[in-house]
Amino acid sequence: MNILVINAGSSSLKYQLLDPVKGALLAKGLCERIGIDGKFTYKAEGKKTIDAADVAMPTHSEAIQAVLDALADKENGVIASMAEIGAVGHRVVHGGEAFNKSVLITDEVLKAIEDCIPLAPLHNPANLTGIRACQKVMPGVPMVAVFDTAFHQTMPAKAYMYALPYEYYEQDKVRRYGFHGTSHKYVAGRAAAMLGKPVEEVKLISCHLGNGSSITAVDGGKSVDTSMGFTPLAGVPMGTRSGDLDAGILQYLMNKYGMGIDEMLNVLNKKSGVEGLSCVSSDFRDLEAAAGKGDAKAALAQEKFAYEVKKYVGAYAAAMGGTDAIVFTAGVGENDKAIRAMVCAGLEYMGVKLDAAANDVRGKETVISAADSKVKVLLIPTNEELMIATETAEIVNK
Ligand code: AMP
Repeated sequence: MNILVINAGSSSLKYQLLDPVKGALLAKGLCERIGIDGKFTYKAEGKKTIDAADVAMPTHSEAIQAVLDALADKENGVIASMAEIGAVGHRVVHGGEAFNKSVLITDEVLKAIEDCIPLAPLHNPANLTGIRACQKVMPGVPMVAVFDTAFHQTMPAKAYMYALPYEYYEQDKVRRYGFHGTSHKYVAGRAAAMLGKPVEEVKLISCHLGNGSSITAVDGGKSVDTSMGFTPLAGVPMGTRSGDLDAGILQYLMNKYGMGIDEMLNVLNKKSGVEGLSCVSSDFRDLEAAAGKGDAKAALAQEKFAYEVKKYVGAYAAAMGGTDAIVFTAGVGENDKAIRAMVCAGLEYMGVKLDAAANDVRGKETVISAADSKVKVLLIPTNEELMIATETAEIVNK
């Protein structure tokens, strides 16, 4: 069964058509500037690529229609008609406490996703717009919602509660939710396969290091703690996000510079992280290049990032009573051997021994620890779309 995977933003929409059983990607692309001037991109193996072509997309409905037209195009398409799409899997950022797994979309599910809008005011409305547009253009096709937060719903209260007055949890749902759940779940499954054990029998520390980064402790296939929190601003420093910091800094800087909370949060979300610290870039390739030329702040940003990731590895080993493997995934985790080496350096005491030659690899499933390393270190390219397609097919086939 072919599954169309949709990741809808407010003015953009990413799509992939996959056959999850074969693990095959049939086509993928992007609709951009929806509601503005509409740009359409389409790529399929052996077919003509469409690169940011002008296509009128006043709303997400026209964008979805453009996707379907391209997929079923006589010359350039990959399917004969829409009938060859068995279901649609939608990425939804926030499922709050209402969703601990992916679900078939019904009117009640749409209402519950709407109820989570205050928790993800930028993302959930866009995700809903994508779902409604698909329902309009593809009536009768089953749709599934796959939540970024769902995998982390297994965390125990001691991990998800903040030490705030209890009423903020009860009345206002303030708690750790965690994000990147689809990615952490995917790599946990692959890691267990690489270790040759059922996922129920392994302890893993999954490091999703990209533009946004989060670390998750996965015990027996379940998330037991994760570094992102109520929002994706928490945890390790990221491309432009600060990660964890002393809340007292907000009061100090806001008073000193007459900033409002929105301006302050803009600094923490968009001007901090390795970009803010290095004064160079949010991109780890630029940091590497600058540090190589002797830029001390770029080197510090790399060092700070790796240090904070390493501290989470230590914390989560403590939380789980050890770990069988450390997994690196996402843009930085899959490509940046220097960061991986910096994270693992000094963890020999807990049985981590990186193999420098094996670590000299990018973007492919590899054991990068030494043969005698008690804790395995794994590089696993993430594939959130395949995970969404797989869960969508499972739910629809039930
Ligand atoms: P993601 O958010 O997972 O797409 O990751 C994007 C980030 O991965 C970029 O901002 C870069 O910092 C990083 N990245 C991508 N390719 C490389 C590379 N070859 N070396 C180091 N970092 C990379």
